[in-house]
Amino acid sequence: MIDVRDVRKSFGSLEVLKKVSLQIAPNEVVAVIGPSGSGKSTMLRSLAHLEQVDAGSIRIGNDYLVQDGKYASSAKIKEITARMGMVFQHFNLFPHLTVRGNLELAPKLVKRLPAAEARDRASALLEKVGLLEKGDAYPANLSGGQKQRVAIARALMMNPEILLFDEPTSALDPELTGEVLQVMRQLAEERMTMVVVTHEMGFAREVADRVIFMADGEFIESGTPEQLFGNPRQERTKTFLNRVL
Ligand code: ATP
Ligand code: MG
Repeated sequence: MIDVRDVRKSFGSLEVLKKVSLQIAPNEVVAVIGPSGSGKSTMLRSLAHLEQVDAGSIRIGNDYLVQDGKYASSAKIKEITARMGMVFQHFNLFPHLTVRGNLELAPKLVKRLPAAEARDRASALLEKVGLLEKGDAYPANLSGGQKQRVAIARALMMNPEILLFDEPTSALDPELTGEVLQVMRQLAEERMTMVVVTHEMGFAREVADRVIFMADGEFIESGTPEQLFGNPRQERTKTFLNRVL
C-alpha cells in the first residue's frame, strides 16, 4: 500500500531523513515512535506531499508520488494525495466555519459532491465520532478532544484509503485523550490503513499491528508491539523505551 525507499530529506545542512525505507500493508495500523527531532513528522508530511523529499521513492498503491527523486506531475500528485487524509496535532480546523462547514467544504469543492449528499455524509460521520449535536457549533466553542474528533471526521469525509496522524493527542489535556483514542481504535478495528506518529505508548501497544522506532532520521527497528516493547533489539530503542515507559 505504502512503499518508501531510500528517502532522504535535508533542511539546509541538516539531514532530517537519512535513507529511510518502510513498507505499510493495506489495513495495517502502524505507530511511529521516537525522540523529538528524529524526523517523524517530516516522514509523515512527506507521504502527504506537505514536504518534498530530496531523493528516493514513495509509492502509494500502484502510483509513484516520487520515483528516484523525481516527482509525478502535479495532476498525478493531486490524485495520489486525495487518497490520504491527515490529522494534525493542532487540529487545523477552519475557525470561521461551523463543524458542518469544516466537514463539507472539501468534498463539495474538490469532489463536487452535491450539497445534500455532503450533508448526509457529514451527519453519518459526526454520529460516528459522537458529535452529531455539534454540527452548527464553531471550533472555538469546542473542547480540544471535540475539535480533534471533528478533524478526524473531516479527514474521513474524503473517503481516504490511508489516514496519517501526527501526534493527534499531544495538544490535549490528559482527560480528553481517551475520547480521541477511542475513535482511532474504532477506525483500527474497521481496518482503516493508518500511520500514527504518537507519544501514546499505550495506544501503540494496544492498537498498532506494528511499531516503528525512529531516531536521528533513521528507522532503527520495527516489530509487533510485543516484540518492540518487550524485547527491543537495538540499544537506542532500549534507551528510549527506558526513558518513556
Ligand atoms: P517531535 O517529536 O518533536 O514532533 P519529529 O520527530 O516529528 O519531532 P521533525 O519535526 O520531523 O521531528 O523534525 C526533524 C528535524 O527537522 C528537527 O531538527 C527540526 O528542527 C527540523 N525541521 C523540521 N521542519 C523544518 C523546517 N521546515 N525547516 C527547518 N528545519 C526543520
Ligand atoms: Mg513531530
